[in-house]
Amino acid sequence: MRNIAILGSTGSIGTQTLDIVREHKEIKITALAAGSNIELLEKQIREFHPKIVCVYHENMAMKLREKVKDLTITIVSGMDGLISCATEGEAEMVVTAMVGMIGIRPTIEAIKAGKDIALANKETLVTAGHIIMPLVKEYNVALLPVDSEHSAIFQALQGEAHKSMKHILLTASGGPFRGRKLSELQNIRKEDALKHPNWSMGQKITIDSATMVNKGLEVMEARWLFDLEIDKIQVVVHPQSIIHSMVEYIDGSVIAQMGIPDMRLPIQYALFYPERIDLIGGKQLDFTTLKQITFEEPDMDTFFGLALAYEAGRNGGSMPTVYNAANEWAVARFLENKIGFLAIPTIIKEAMKNHKRIENPSLIDILNVENETYDFVKEYAESEFKYKP
Ligand code: NAD
Ligand code: MG
Repeated sequence: MRNIAILGSTGSIGTQTLDIVREHKEIKITALAAGSNIELLEKQIREFHPKIVCVYHENMAMKLREKVKDLTITIVSGMDGLISCATEGEAEMVVTAMVGMIGIRPTIEAIKAGKDIALANKETLVTAGHIIMPLVKEYNVALLPVDSEHSAIFQALQGEAHKSMKHILLTASGGPFRGRKLSELQNIRKEDALKHPNWSMGQKITIDSATMVNKGLEVMEARWLFDLEIDKIQVVVHPQSIIHSMVEYIDGSVIAQMGIPDMRLPIQYALFYPERIDLIGGKQLDFTTLKQITFEEPDMDTFFGLALAYEAGRNGGSMPTVYNAANEWAVARFLENKIGFLAIPTIIKEAMKNHKRIENPSLIDILNVENETYDFVKEYAESEFKYKP
């Protein structure tokens, strides 16, 4: 029996994790947490019988308590509630599938409670990698990547020594606007940006893929997960999303992990590691119909959000938090149709320019920098992009 908790159970990663759990009766769900979708949460509760559930917003938590009053279950809310779900006694592993920096504190507390982490929530490592990675060592827990690229790298590293690694080749589909120039991105609407060619994901990461900020976040995520300098992580555009990433070794060998784009594969690999098991309903790669796999260099001038990620990563300290917080704010406003597409990387750039970097930020510093960044970008967007709250 494996006991797991899922934070962000109603989202794209959360529901796909539950799809796997449904097929494997040896996995027991101990806790679930989500933002506000109580209709889906109620269904999940009745199917998977967790002991404790968190709904972030207390007014929605109250409604859920009413809906499931026939059951013996604890419904909690807020950050304390999220932390209770992350640390609940029976869970051996916590799947962090929330979107955004909200994931930092629950992840830290889960590690301190001795839980293994299946990490989808990349914003946590981007902003607090210098806190998380030493804690993972100190508490001797496993940190297993769920992001498909990082799972690919992790798989390509099995049995290899860290010192043999020369480069990470992080693949990127290039998103829906690959090949376009800056002037052609001016009038992009939300509907266009939400159409990803190869993956179906939550809204925030889909916009991040269209700006290539997602790849920037992944470069910073990889830097922490695999302990490699940022400039040894190279982004390779590969539009078919068949190679999920590669590791180049000092002898020139390159090991790639390939497969049909299906997030259930990296999720399942993290849940069952080191075992590989049948992916029920998973499709096989067919090399007789696979016409071509191609590669390009990323266009860092057009997708300058990616170039900014390298800059934030090289600067380190609190700069990745500014990068991430500015992006989170801007993507949320873009999804509300309040700012344009190119305003997203522009806002990140200005926020980074404005920031006085902190060398080794504590958790409190990170949360303060997050709020200061939100204040700055709001004012900046009001003056430059006529943004109205
Ligand atoms: P999503 O928007 O589909 O789901 C997000 C989940 O987080 C939902 O369950 C939502 O209720 C929950 N949530 C949001 N705010 C919350 C709060 N305050 N408290 C508690 N729960 C809250 O997002 P997603 O696409 O599943 O992505 C989740 C994370 O995984 C992101 O960090 C993303 O970058 C990463 N990721 C996603 C994919 C993918 O294929 N979707 C791939 C790789 C990495
Ligand atoms: Mg990814």
